[in-house]
Amino acid sequence: MSYKKGKEIYDGKAKKLFDVVGHPELLWQEFKDSLTAFNAQKRGSFEQKGALNREISALLYEELESKGVTTHRVMEIPPTAIVTKKLDMVKLEVVVRNILAGSTAKKFGIEEGKPLEAPLVEFYYKDDALADPFVSDDQALMLKTVRSKAELDELRSFGLKVNEVLKSTMERAGIDLVDFKIEVGRDADRRLYLADEISPDCCRLWDKVTGQKMDKDRFRRDLGGVEEAYREVCVRLKSTLKKGSV
Ligand code: ADP
Ligand code: UDP
Repeated sequence: MSYKKGKEIYDGKAKKLFDVVGHPELLWQEFKDSLTAFNAQKRGSFEQKGALNREISALLYEELESKGVTTHRVMEIPPTAIVTKKLDMVKLEVVVRNILAGSTAKKFGIEEGKPLEAPLVEFYYKDDALADPFVSDDQALMLKTVRSKAELDELRSFGLKVNEVLKSTMERAGIDLVDFKIEVGRDADRRLYLADEISPDCCRLWDKVTGQKMDKDRFRRDLGGVEEAYREVCVRLKSTLKKGSV
């Protein structure tokens, strides 16, 4: 099966979306080299960033699929593209935390790095104009991002299942999975799929031995070595998952 890229339909912060010729049910997603933070107020880029994120995401999605997580993937088009199912996206970002860092650490005045007794799941309303605010369950329902409390529980279990697989994969790669964000979408039968991407753009990854940050915080906090960190994550995952290029 081969697919042909159609017309551009969306130019996002990290990816461009295109139609797939003759397949209205699919999307062609192209990973860009750009890097943004703080709701796109800070911008940067590096060569091969799109290719690295596409490959890291492919490795992790393959592992997740092998452990029973349903994803939007239809076909990888290396180096920078992927064909996916076109889904009705849930207007929530699902964040799972194993170690406290970032916005939640700041909000409660707790120092970054505190391991949590149990993973913490949080929902954020996907709206760039509002800078993706945190929402309670009742607010998520009020905003009609889901149809019922049961659907929120489904998202929570989905996030925890993804966490279980990612955490153990990262562990094997010598990395602490501090936290991450996923996006999910539904097909016409309301089946839930993992969508978007999982990469150092949307995870916090700390080297188990040195504690070095290996994720977008290097860019957010001007720590340098952004490209090296993304590349190292890719190399370690390939070796852990015994893969060549995917
Ligand atoms: P942003 O929209 O935040 O700038 P991106 O540049 O990564 O982020 O753009 C990708 C867009 O595609 C996001 O809005 C994401 O929600 C959406 N998306 C990802 N996967 C799918 C999918 N399978 N079906 C429909 N939309 C998707
Ligand atoms: N995250 C993301 N996109 C967002 C918000 C958060 O990918 O729009 C990721 C972020 O990289 C981190 C996790 O979700 O791995 C938790 O982020 P947090 O709420 O701490 O926000 P931050 O302080 O990073 O803005």
